[in-house]
Amino acid sequence: MNNKLYGSLIFELSHPGRRAYSLPRNEFGDYSVPADEQRKHDAELPECDEMTVVRHYTNHSENNFGVDNGFYPLGSCTMKYNPCINEEIAMHPAFANLHPLQPADSVKGAEKAYDLLQQYLSELTGMSKFTLNPCAGAHGELTGLMIIRSYFESKRDTKRIKVIVPDSAHGTNPASAAVCGLEIVEVKSKEDGRVDVEHLKTLLGDDIAAMMMTNPNTLGLFEYDIPEITKLVHDCGGLMYYDGANLNPMLGACRPGDMGFDVMHVNLHKTFSTPHGGGGPGSGPVGVRAGLEEFLPMNNSTTDKDFAISVNPYHGNFAVELRALTYILTLGKQHIKMVGPLATLNANYIKECLKDDYELPIEGLCKHEFVFNGLKDKSTGVTTMDVAKRLLDYGYHAPTIYFPLLFHEAMMIEPTENESKETIDGFINVMHKIAEEAKNSPDVVKGAPHNTPIKRVDDVLAAKEPHVSNCTLNCL
Ligand SMILES: *Cc1c(COP(=O)(O)O)cnc(C)c1O
Repeated sequence: MNNKLYGSLIFELSHPGRRAYSLPRNEFGDYSVPADEQRKHDAELPECDEMTVVRHYTNHSENNFGVDNGFYPLGSCTMKYNPCINEEIAMHPAFANLHPLQPADSVKGAEKAYDLLQQYLSELTGMSKFTLNPCAGAHGELTGLMIIRSYFESKRDTKRIKVIVPDSAHGTNPASAAVCGLEIVEVKSKEDGRVDVEHLKTLLGDDIAAMMMTNPNTLGLFEYDIPEITKLVHDCGGLMYYDGANLNPMLGACRPGDMGFDVMHVNLHKTFSTPHGGGGPGSGPVGVRAGLEEFLPMNNSTTDKDFAISVNPYHGNFAVELRALTYILTLGKQHIKMVGPLATLNANYIKECLKDDYELPIEGLCKHEFVFNGLKDKSTGVTTMDVAKRLLDYGYHAPTIYFPLLFHEAMMIEPTENESKETIDGFINVMHKIAEEAKNSPDVVKGAPHNTPIKRVDDVLAAKEPHVSNCTLNCL
């Protein structure tokens, strides 16, 4: 590999006068841009020949790591296999070239796809009706809470301004409640990682609008007390919100609607597959139980009801919706039921194989993911961060680390249902090996990664004084 090409910025490869394009012959005669609209200086762009540009970006793309390159056990994210057929359907010109303002009778096919997905989501979750408008899980949470707020506004019940959120919740839960103008009340977890029902009882009252729950929760644990919790919250007049980010292991096993949840979102990009590394794209449809349908956001329409809400001028992230629909249709009614059990089996297999080397703070069956609290042997000084960096040397993506916040050395592993036994065994072997290294040559682990183009970065410096480019501002 050409090291100069490999490690350089495109600006550093620039030579004055080099070009990677040729414009078509001007067929329209002379035209000059009016003087007052002309640039004062030439645009300072990199000047490179075509091969240099192609190699530069191709080499960079090879530094990328994705589900298609290797095992990606990022917990809480469901980084699953994204079949090419999803992309083919999403890129089909009949879908990709649609315009959101096209006349309705020219988009019958898209409408059918849209309706089908809404219908399947309702069937899979036990909800009455879905909106596909929200563009991410967090956007769905906000939409769901706005629905709940509108519901209480419509009943002129203005006292309900509080949302109960478990201390194990994803950070987006309290954030969404705050953005929605609601107050957050935290309910504690018990020793076993589940919501403390006794503590919950002390928080309930006529000022509670909703309780948000993730089930299985962010520790990958099933919340067995849901029937009691939903009853308590409903009895005090509040609604139950289901954060559907962990819906994956529930597919085919149980439905939030049957557990008494009133409003929920689904992260299509997680449970139903879409490549979503690097922050996008996403889709967070929101479903409501029977009786709340009128509070769903309206599409492109005004309404004279004062509690109507709008979260998106169009129909949401349609390409992600198509991928989800394709995934559901590919699996079909029969096979989609195997998603949850297989994801659960894979996670438990890894957990049981590794728990002698890594500290398992909560014993017992997990669902699709679980959390270790660092290495079991704390005397080596090797941290979760070190293990995560060492995994990169062995060609694995790191799990989610330092989340959830309940344990200091959290390491959250989610294999998904898609991986073969050989892949999972390969990961287990490497995790054993790293635990051995931590005992016998801890400095190797502490200094990792050794084999990646960029070695360990200084997190604080990178966040406080990011240098994302070597070139000075005036070259941009
Ligand atoms: C991912 C996640 C979210 C947020 O979803 P986004 O689609 O990333 O906005 C919320 N809650 C939990 C438990 C999650 O894992």
